[in-house]
Order: sequence, then C-alpha cells, then structure tokens
Amino acid sequence: MQAIAVFPKSREVRSIDVLEPVLESPTQVLLRMLDVGVCGTDREICAFEYGTPPAGSDHLIIGHESLARVIAVGSQVRTLRVGELVVPMVRRPCPHDHCTACRASRQDFCFTGDFSERGIGGAHGFMTELVVEEERYLNPVPAELRDVAILVEPLTIAEKALIQLWHLQERLPWQCPHRPGKDHGHCRRALVLGAGPVGLLGAMALRARDFETIVYAREAAPNDKSAVVDAIGATYVSSKDVPPAEIAARFGAIDVVYEAAGASKVAFDTMQALGANSIFVFTGVPGRKGPVEIDTDLVMRNLVLRNQMVLGTVNAGRDAFEAAIRDVAEFGRRWPAALRALISGRNAPERYRELLLGRPTGIKHVISFAEN
Ligand SMILES: [Zn+2]
Ligand SMILES: [Zn+2]
Repeated sequence: MQAIAVFPKSREVRSIDVLEPVLESPTQVLLRMLDVGVCGTDREICAFEYGTPPAGSDHLIIGHESLARVIAVGSQVRTLRVGELVVPMVRRPCPHDHCTACRASRQDFCFTGDFSERGIGGAHGFMTELVVEEERYLNPVPAELRDVAILVEPLTIAEKALIQLWHLQERLPWQCPHRPGKDHGHCRRALVLGAGPVGLLGAMALRARDFETIVYAREAAPNDKSAVVDAIGATYVSSKDVPPAEIAARFGAIDVVYEAAGASKVAFDTMQALGANSIFVFTGVPGRKGPVEIDTDLVMRNLVLRNQMVLGTVNAGRDAFEAAIRDVAEFGRRWPAALRALISGRNAPERYRELLLGRPTGIKHVISFAEN
C-alpha cells in the first residue's frame, strides 16, 4: 500500500510502497485512513527541521491530523464497531514509571519528553492507506461529521486551552452575570493571534462560548480568512491597520489572548493589550531566529500589577478530543459554510509534493485516500 514518508538521512520526501499492517493484539483496531490534514508541522518535517523515524527505521511516515474508518477490530475491543468513524490521538506515553502524567494517561503533560507522536517523532503517522492502532487512542466520531471531522485534531489545541482557561480563571470568585441564551464568555473579550486553521478554529470555539472575539493577523482584509471571521460574528483586524500597542485603545482591554501564530515579537508586543485578571495562552512554536528586543520591565510590571497569567499549552488529551468532536458538530450547526470554507481542498495523495513542499495556499489542505 501507499504511504508518504520522509527520509531524514538522504533528505528525501517520497511516496513509498509498504506492507499492509495487521492486528497484532486483541485490543487493536484496523483503520482505513480517509482524510489526512496537512499543516505547518508536516511542512517543517518535510524541510527536515524535525521529525524522527521510529527506532530502527530510515524513514518516517508523516501525517498526524486524520480521520479514519474502522474496518476490523480485535476480539477485546469494546467501544468501537466496524464501519464507525474515528479520529486518532497523536501522542503516545513515555515508558517511565516516574512519569505520573503518562501513567495517568495524560501524555499531553508528559514530564520526561520521551513520548512519541505518530507522524512527528518516534512513530509512523497516518498519511497512508491502512493503520493499526490501540482502541484507547481512538475517538469515535458521529457519521454526519464525515466531511469536517478532519478539523477535530487542529481544534483540540484550542479545546485544551479552553479547558485549562476555565480551571485557571476559577481563581476569580465571580463569573459573567447570567444572561439567558448566553454562554460563559459573554462578558469577556478575546484576541486570537493568527488566522491559520488553529487560529480560526480557536476563534470559532471562543465565539461558540459567546466571547467577543477579535482575530488579529498580518494579511489585509478582505481575504478568505477574514470572510470566515465575519461569518462567525468575530472582528478581523490586520496588523497593517492597527499596531499591537493600539489594540487596547481601539477595542478595549483584552481578557484572553489565544496565540496561534508562532511569531514571538508580535505576541509579546500584544501583551500590552491585556487587561486586569487576564490570561495569555501561547500555542505557537516559533523557529529560533535570534534575540529580539522587548520591554521586560513593562511586561513584568503588568503581569504583577494586573494579576495576569501566561500559559503555554501543547498537544491534547481525550477530554479535549471529545470537546473538539462536540464543537465541530456545533460549528456545523451555527456556521456550516464558514466551517466548510476552512477546508481549502481535498487532494489525491499523488499531490503530496506540492502540498508539502510547495508554497502554502488556502486555509487547510487535506489529502484523501480512496475508500476501496
Ligand atoms: Zn497539525
Ligand atoms: Zn511521560
């Protein structure tokens, strides 16, 4: 069967022919991959910035954002049936007894760093026709989400951030006053940095909870991304029109920044817009480009004098996957056209080269494998 793989030693990205996997334990599930998303991480792996083959292999099959159909189950699989749709989780636990996070099935908080991630490091990914996976790493998805469930994995980043946000903001012994028909966020203002798939999905998650939501990105409006932002009742702002230092004056103090751009200078400059008791959530992983100047006295003064919090978050646990599946369904009810507009194209696997190595276009490109 076909798989798309990187060969780090020879610096090649190739379509290869591999043996079909088979069930090796009664708790495993055989999956036919339907959709595999392409993101910045895949492009960085294909540029050999990172990505580690499994031990003993000269190549890594890439792909971590996926949607699959169950085509066979082991005799002890209890929760999944043949024909069902699933979204696999990405990270697998480290082997160490002392890693309390991994031992509690929360490898997204792994202490040791010795976890593996399918399609990223230490384990083959999903950009192939068939995959075998343990039942416990699979999340069932309702059949009606067939066309949009490829967005679940990139949405889990925002869902994990929001789960933590509600926990952390319980430090404040009050909430938004109750307003009939309005969700928890209705008296709060959120700023999303970046209008890529992670940013736009994060903006949808914030709007679904009734945050006033501003999406701040480089590109001037109107464009494909600002159209999505308009459709969900958020406000698109280009950094060409409003510099970071003017955000608070223009829109009011920000309660939550959800950073999804990976540009550290703009992110730190945006911290000035944070109001009292606010929280800044980093999700981007910037490439190292050398030191830049920031006013650390100002950042530290504001953190202290305004009771602010800074949070970094990566990967996602089962709770975030389940929330993402519920939310993708909710976004589809509220904003069907905007949700579909996030998927710029479904492509045959033969187009892997231009998608992974060419200039990025659109919002989210998907590689789709034929069902039979
Ligand atoms: Zn990704
Ligand atoms: Zn661990």
